[in-house]
Amino acid sequence: MNIQLHYLIQLSDLDTQLEELKSERIRSKEESIGFRVQAKENEIIKLRENIRNKIDPELLNKYDKIQKRYKMRAVAQVNEGVCYGCFTALPTSYVAESDKNNKIITCPNCGRILFWIE
Ligand SMILES: [Zn+2]
Repeated sequence: MNIQLHYLIQLSDLDTQLEELKSERIRSKEESIGFRVQAKENEIIKLRENIRNKIDPELLNKYDKIQKRYKMRAVAQVNEGVCYGCFTALPTSYVAESDKNNKIITCPNCGRILFWIE
């Protein structure tokens, strides 16, 4: 797999976890839980910065734009030819077999960055 794509998938996972923790923290009324969640968030923010530093700035910019637009899943999996970001089938022959996971490919419908399960 393209290493940049690999980092983008990790970044997307971390951003999803961060969103979940944020809403958990907002929901929780108990201070002790709030502190615990905050500590976890801080750990993830550190990991996130680490990964962001490894990603090509142009690509990162693209990712941030998609993430801002959809709030989640800026990087989507393709399953049976369907983008799992917008659940639209990709046109057949949209992507050459050899380009899958080797090039940065975006969904023609929603614009999310795509990856294939190997
Ligand atoms: Zn899509």
